[in-house]
Amino acid sequence: MTAFWTEADFDDHELVQLVRDRASGLTAIIALHSTHLGPGAGGTRFWHYPDGKDALRDALRLSRGMSYKNAMAGLPMGGGKAVILAPENGGKTPELLAAFGDAVEALHGRYVTAEDVGIAEADMVAVSRRTNYVSGLPVKGADSAGGDPGPFTAMGIFHGIKAAVRHKLGKDSLAGVRVAVQGTGSVGGGVARLLAQEGARLVLSDINQDRAATLARELDAETAAPDAIMGIACDVFSPNALGAILDDEGIARLDAPIVAGGANNQLARAGHGQQLADRGILYAPDYVINAGGIISVALEYLARQNGQPCDINEVRKRLVQIPGRLEEIWQQSDATGVSSDVVADRMAQTLIGR
Ligand code: NAD
Repeated sequence: MTAFWTEADFDDHELVQLVRDRASGLTAIIALHSTHLGPGAGGTRFWHYPDGKDALRDALRLSRGMSYKNAMAGLPMGGGKAVILAPENGGKTPELLAAFGDAVEALHGRYVTAEDVGIAEADMVAVSRRTNYVSGLPVKGADSAGGDPGPFTAMGIFHGIKAAVRHKLGKDSLAGVRVAVQGTGSVGGGVARLLAQEGARLVLSDINQDRAATLARELDAETAAPDAIMGIACDVFSPNALGAILDDEGIARLDAPIVAGGANNQLARAGHGQQLADRGILYAPDYVINAGGIISVALEYLARQNGQPCDINEVRKRLVQIPGRLEEIWQQSDATGVSSDVVADRMAQTLIGR
């Protein structure tokens, strides 16, 4: 048997906790990578893991990613993440969510949770009955931010794509810029709508082909098959579906000078950022460009701690800082020849004192 701290993805995490509750059937892992900048903030994932090792790997990788993302977004939050291993014969029962809420509460605010894959707003409401260390809760009123982070993530990506087009193509406008969008869900759909408003020409793709076709009709866009979207000749390839798509084969197929989208963990492994750079492709590091959602979630949490609603203008103000951060990364990358993903990682590590 090997110790988990010898795993490749273990990165001096401050805490890795296994949570078991026999009565509800809860098995969860809470990983806190760093609380250097504040409480570890990051969502909870609910997933059927074929092997417990995959759950541990996810918790370790995702919590480190949250440390980097929160630091680069200028938030006073560290990085944490929880994964709940979906029970074999059951789903998310109220008892299971309550037991998870108790586990978050027992950490006394070192970890703050929110939605991630497989967890809906209603689930977070259930968790919030047992702990206040929760965000991503429903909000009232158009001037309040919070709740579903998808639209804020999309807005940040939109600003990031504009910055990439300016940096790489020297264009201040998106009019006529051709963007291939992979995934038209909460994030990709929002990005596509914002791009269309600015006159971009879109090619949309989703494994749910009806979803892509419906949006294409709405936006007067083209569609492409899921296995074709990465090879479309365009100005920007925007991945907003899966992680690990930028592998040897994926990068070789790209016919775009820019990759800028919201999917988490786009690079299959270290070294693929350099491969993109070697092909002359400008890459927007995923956790920098897709930080809009966590900005909303974190500000919502901090406002609630002070008994205030979260001002949507404060969120917007921080979203428009995403392009500046990307520009700083690209300029350093241009000046040093170090790929943009590595430049971003180094900046983030400095911010969290590593
Ligand atoms: P979503 O489930 O709403 O949408 C994902 C879409 O991708 C779905 O329509 C799905 O059918 C499609 N899809 C899956 N595999 C595909 C493939 N091979 N080709 C084309 N389409 C495919 O999820 P989302 O919230 O929009 O998240 C999308 C990505 O953005 C994920 O990687 C997520 O981790 C990341 N992300 C989301 C947020 C957020 O605020 N929601 C924040 C940061 C990062």
